[in-house]
Amino acid sequence: MDALPEFRIVSPTTLAEAIAARADNPKAMPLGGGTDLVVNIRRGIVSPQVLIDMNGVQELHAIGVDEKSIELGASARLSEIAEHPAINKYYPVVAQAAAHIAGPTHRNMGTIGGNLCLDTRCIFYNQSEWWRSANNHCLKTTGTICHVAPKSRGVCFATFSGDLAPALLALNADVDIAGPKGRRTIPLEKLYIGFARQDVPVTEMQGDGKYYLSLRPGEIVTAVRAKNTPGLRSAYDKIRIRRSIEYPVAGVAVALRKDGGSLADLRVAFTGTNPRPVLLAGTAELCGGVFDERVIKGLDALVRDQIMPMKTTFTPGHYRRRVAGVLARRLVSRLFEG
Ligand SMILES: Cc1cc2nc3c(=O)[nH]c(=O)nc-3n(C[C@H](O)[C@H](O)[C@H](O)COP(=O)(O)OP(=O)(O)OC[C@H]3O[C@@H](n4cnc5c(N)ncnc54)[C@H](O)[C@@H]3O)c2cc1C
Ligand code: SF4
Repeated sequence: MDALPEFRIVSPTTLAEAIAARADNPKAMPLGGGTDLVVNIRRGIVSPQVLIDMNGVQELHAIGVDEKSIELGASARLSEIAEHPAINKYYPVVAQAAAHIAGPTHRNMGTIGGNLCLDTRCIFYNQSEWWRSANNHCLKTTGTICHVAPKSRGVCFATFSGDLAPALLALNADVDIAGPKGRRTIPLEKLYIGFARQDVPVTEMQGDGKYYLSLRPGEIVTAVRAKNTPGLRSAYDKIRIRRSIEYPVAGVAVALRKDGGSLADLRVAFTGTNPRPVLLAGTAELCGGVFDERVIKGLDALVRDQIMPMKTTFTPGHYRRRVAGVLARRLVSRLFEG
């Protein structure tokens, strides 16, 4: 195993101190539970000389939940979310997604902020330094080509695999951000810019597996919030290689509302497939009737169009797309019937 290199930890106790610490150390990285970041440091994937430990900032630990809304501070622990009675009652998709992340010890350390800002993953990237150097590295680090798609024209397809993002996207959540220029709130969907398009240049709004977040320099995520919709039913499910502890082969969050016997609202979001979590566009057109063959075929077509996994994990892309479609169909059916 690679040795952990030297780094310094700064421990702010207020948000203002955290932002000032980032301004003083522009290459510093925020530290949540460290369950992904420290692994990446050990592997030489990133080498920040300063880590800003977000855990001492009390306001980031706040959890506010009732039947009208949910607000989760960036330093709230995944285990707290998974076990929280009101989250399980009113926002089961969020509690279930948190409960599906890694193993119990990771959930005790891992935070909302770290999970939402989780680095994208690839079999050519999440490897030791010597493994990657034997391949001359790749675009996401210091190399010049993408091993997954050598003709990708500078685009990286590493996969976003955090479980909470799709759950919160299905609730139409907003994310609070703070930085040197003040605070802002944006739709969570806009945090993720991993579109990986080869026909347009990578920009702040149009990124890929390497530039996957729209955070500006020095910004940190402080909280995520959503409003409830009366009658909304929601759930999360995922397929993983090892059921006890594993990133998703594909993860699906569904939130739907019925009006009498017909589907009145449908939101479906995925992780583990594209370089961003994908809130499926076009589901409104599937509403207005019962859950029947028309909805199943429509859902399959939307998944085929928008879920485009590459060979970035141990499972082939086309298999992950099929898994995503089947999981979505099962979950929609279960929530509609239940
Ligand atoms: C064996 C194993 C299995 C795993 N399985 C899963 C899984 O099934 N599903 C899953 O989703 N994850 C999984 N993970 C990854 C990880 O454990 C979780 O995603 C966890 O939620 C990360 O949170 P953290 O607080 O530990 O993040 P950290 O590791 O501390 O940080 C992750 C990234 O987020 C940034 N960051 C942290 N806080 C903030 C903030 N407030 N604002 C801006 N950026 C921030 C960090 O700088 C870093 O880039 C697994 C990890 C391991 C080792
Ligand atoms: S998709 Fe390509 S560039 Fe991105 S991490 Fe994998 S091999 Fe590297």
